Amino acid sequence: MTPSRDPSLSRPLPLAEAEPVALAMGEGGTGWFSSLDDTALLDRLLPEEARAVRERIGREMAAAISVLAWLTIPVSLLLLNLDVMRWQQGYFDPARNPLAPWWVATVVAHIAFGLSVVPAVMIWRLRRLHGARSFRQLQALHVTLMSAGVLGMALLAVWTRPTSHDLTVAVVMGNLLYHLPRRGRRFFNVVVVAVGVAMVWQTARLAADAVEPAVRLVEVWGIGVLALLGGYVVRRQRIRALLMEHRLGRLALVDALTGLATRRRVEELAAVAIDAATPAAPLAVILLDVDEFKSINDTFGHNVGDEVLRGIARIVQQRGRLSDVVGRWGGEEFIILCPETPVTGALGLAEQLRARIARQEFAGVGRRTASFGVAEAAPGEMLLEVVARADAALYEAKRAGRNRVREASPAG
Ligand code: GH3
Ligand code: MG
Ligand code: MG
Repeated sequence: MTPSRDPSLSRPLPLAEAEPVALAMGEGGTGWFSSLDDTALLDRLLPEEARAVRERIGREMAAAISVLAWLTIPVSLLLLNLDVMRWQQGYFDPARNPLAPWWVATVVAHIAFGLSVVPAVMIWRLRRLHGARSFRQLQALHVTLMSAGVLGMALLAVWTRPTSHDLTVAVVMGNLLYHLPRRGRRFFNVVVVAVGVAMVWQTARLAADAVEPAVRLVEVWGIGVLALLGGYVVRRQRIRALLMEHRLGRLALVDALTGLATRRRVEELAAVAIDAATPAAPLAVILLDVDEFKSINDTFGHNVGDEVLRGIARIVQQRGRLSDVVGRWGGEEFIILCPETPVTGALGLAEQLRARIARQEFAGVGRRTASFGVAEAAPGEMLLEVVARADAALYEAKRAGRNRVREASPAG
């Protein structure tokens, strides 16, 4: 692979717009439902950031599901075994049990829960074959089957006598919320409220003959609400952590002022490009230094200087091939790695850039120039060695009066 395939470097990233987004709790929507809908948080990020965070959450979910895969098998076998026992005890016989239809609904829910093993195991297998990735459709299927199972159990808890395994239901509900997609979450919230209303109604009915159901209502709902809020807080925290990680990762790779690759990133990509270079398709390096740049800062101030640097970065990025890597090497020095380019080609590109920069009117500053050193990497040469030769050529260009291109002397 050559650096040409890296799309993040073939266009400027909109870092200048990436003002820190306040991610305090409670932000990200209005109204009760949407305030629990923390995916709204992602809408406020830059599209590129939101995509990266979503992708990470998807991958984490795939990892969680593949761990869950094997755990779900004994649990669903246990549930089905309980169902068989209840069937033998006559729970499903309408003549003996007026709640029989609810027990049938539960078996269906238990089967749905058991079937969730299938996508879970598939995800587990695919992750082993293809590495850490997300599998959107399989994950959606898994969540749907799990949700059907959990909601079935919750409904049964409403109509029969809720017991302590409602705790399990509630905790699973909370965890589901962590990875449900936006629409799924809204729907899930509505269903949870509906189940709550049904529970209140059922409790009112049962309260005539016992105090206990009221206590149970408080218990189950207390746990349920805590589990839901727990899932919500966990997800919010996770989004914030992933966002920070993403931004820090970008700080190391993307220069904040110009949006170009940082020196570190150029060094990484150069290692790949040098490996891929052959005598027939060599790697050329262009080093560019703005002429008399200090005088811009001194005369117009640092901010104007920064603006000129941005302008030059834009010009450099618009030229050349998509496969070229454009980076900020130092203060007002830029570097261009040109894979599969002999030195003659790179000299041509440098000359075009020189002429283009010299023509540009920089706002409030007027015309400026830059000097260039160009070198072709010899077989086995390291990046810093090629850059040192390009730098020597650049120095020659400065000495010869600036605003010109010089070719480096051959290696060795
Ligand atoms: P020469 O033609 O010999 O290159 O002259 P020069 O003035 O450009 O000399 P030199 O390369 O030594 O000066 C670079 C200056 O660039 C010094 C530093 O203050 C300024 N500089 C470095 N980084 C930045 C930056 O990010 N923003 C601004 N505004 N100035 C910077
Ligand atoms: Mg300099
Ligand atoms: Mg300079």
